[in-house]
Amino acid sequence: IPNSRRKLWGKSDTLSTFPTRQAHSHKGSHGKGIVVGGSFQMPGSIAMTAKAALRSGIGLLTIATTSNTVPLIAPFLQEATFQQVTEEGGFLSSANVVDWSQYNGAAIGMGMGRNQGSTTLVEEIFDCVEGPLLIDADGLYLMKDGLTQYSKRKDPTILTPHPGEFAHLIDRSIPEVMQSPFCLTRDFALQYGVYVVLKGPSTIITSPRGEQCVEVSGNAGLAKGGSGDVLSGILLALLLQSNSVFDALANGCMIHGLTAERLTESRHSIYDLLATDLIEGLPNTFRTFS
Ligand code: AMP
Ligand code: MG
Repeated sequence: IPNSRRKLWGKSDTLSTFPTRQAHSHKGSHGKGIVVGGSFQMPGSIAMTAKAALRSGIGLLTIATTSNTVPLIAPFLQEATFQQVTEEGGFLSSANVVDWSQYNGAAIGMGMGRNQGSTTLVEEIFDCVEGPLLIDADGLYLMKDGLTQYSKRKDPTILTPHPGEFAHLIDRSIPEVMQSPFCLTRDFALQYGVYVVLKGPSTIITSPRGEQCVEVSGNAGLAKGGSGDVLSGILLALLLQSNSVFDALANGCMIHGLTAERLTESRHSIYDLLATDLIEGLPNTFRTFS
């Protein structure tokens, strides 16, 4: 890593910055988050994000998803609560009924679809969510045209694209992104005042001030649908428990990757590892850092 502002994030960094849990805390102390996404076609995405957030120490979690998704996922998410939102043609379209002030942070976009009607929902969320706002997957497509306006949020905004999503956001090709991932993400983060987590075998985390780090844990067992949804849940939970956004993002990527590594050393292989296995593997990883 040539640039001195770029750092390789290691296990010792995670150990020294991991959020502590006070003995006298209560559920309100660890953040109340909301995840927004899902559709009949992709009910699993939002379920995995929610479950991963719950397995990562979040105090309270609410799920805002389509009405036909709720009965499919609620039996597996007993600890979560559900929030009704307006739909159009089976996709989320508006969340103006939500009292956003009761949440400390949100993650949006997983399994949501790219229906134009959902753009309003994304705009509302940018305006209304207080605290960190993480945007992933379809949320990244839906927000693209409003980038300039969105960057005016006062609280941290975090984008978690894989190279394909990032290429789309900046109107470049994937090979171009892969050729200069550091410069392109840094320029983007500075221009729009956002954090960027560019995911891949090495993940690059960039702050709105241009600080960058690389996190290299994980393996090809993660190269499967659902891994990114799990990461979003871990990140939301850590964002609500940490004082530093940057540390929360780097540590979340570390937890995610290490969990894959450990699972493929024991119960699983890189062939069979599933995103849901990753969620079940989180307890073992969290024990190392607590
Ligand atoms: P997504 O593409 O949104 O599902 O996200 C995939 C997740 O898995 C990201 O956190 C990536 O960093 C991780 N990942 C995917 N492929 C690999 C790989 N070959 N090695 C390590 N991590 C990977
Ligand atoms: Mg994804």
